[in-house]
Amino acid sequence: MRIVHTAVELAEIEPAGSGKKHGRRAVVMTMGALHEGHLALVRAAREAADQVVVTVFVNPLQFDDDADLERYPRDLDADAALLEPLGVDVVYAPSVEDVYPGGAPIVTVSAGTINDVFEGEHRPGHFDGVLTVVLKLMHLTRPDVAYFGQKDAQQVIAIRTMCRDLNVPVDIVAVPTVRDADGLALSSRNVQLSQADRADALVLSRALAEAEEVLAEGGPLSLALTVARAAFAEVPTVTPDYIGAMDPVSAVAVEGDYRGDVVIAVAARVGGTRLIDNVIARVGPREGVADA
Ligand code: AMP
Repeated sequence: MRIVHTAVELAEIEPAGSGKKHGRRAVVMTMGALHEGHLALVRAAREAADQVVVTVFVNPLQFDDDADLERYPRDLDADAALLEPLGVDVVYAPSVEDVYPGGAPIVTVSAGTINDVFEGEHRPGHFDGVLTVVLKLMHLTRPDVAYFGQKDAQQVIAIRTMCRDLNVPVDIVAVPTVRDADGLALSSRNVQLSQADRADALVLSRALAEAEEVLAEGGPLSLALTVARAAFAEVPTVTPDYIGAMDPVSAVAVEGDYRGDVVIAVAARVGGTRLIDNVIARVGPREGVADA
């Protein structure tokens, strides 16, 4: 496994394979502090591609809160020790200066109306920062395919939309959310939780599971959201930013008597830590199945 820190070193690495036909290169983009969620992406990439590049970069552009950026965990040695046994070929762990040599970029990518809802609404500038660094990292790593976690559902939508709208020739694969045994979605931010916070944080996955159950039993989306909101109301130490449902292709908010596939998404503050989670569900019968 090669660990490189600069775009120049990265550019010198040839794709796997030889001759005219090179192998498929996959990229997994991370901010480090790796856990089993990230490793699931790496394993999926390793299985499908000939060469796997993992990027480790805490992107200042996507943080709307300086304190959050400051306390974000960083440990490249520990990350490399987790990646090496998985057969990763290259780790690109650049400095901020290597990614933004001219300082903050003048030209950036806009997530458009995706900025108006859910994470976009609550974290101004976040998705523009994400898309800008994802596009840059795609240019730097030149992948055929990129793996992202369903845990950040709206991010996957924003990236797929960018690739469609800007003709970025990279396949996007979303990998299901990896959870602890008790349901808590793995996150690099979980290390910031006290024991009490961690117990409270279970309300995120619990609320989503209860909403999912309502839909599985054929209940309306409005009831599923009411049930999820009621679960949060029982844990006053957790402050939700939003509990809602979005169209899984456009991220447009849906509610009430909407039918079809949805992402039910939540974000909440637990102590000083902000957590997100979501589930994909179906409201109403599958297409082609007649209404009872
Ligand atoms: P991050 O380091 O938090 O920017 O995450 C890097 C990638 O890992 C993103 O595509 C995330 O969606 C994905 N990821 C983070 N946590 C999980 C998880 N619990 N399950 C699956 N993927 C995850």
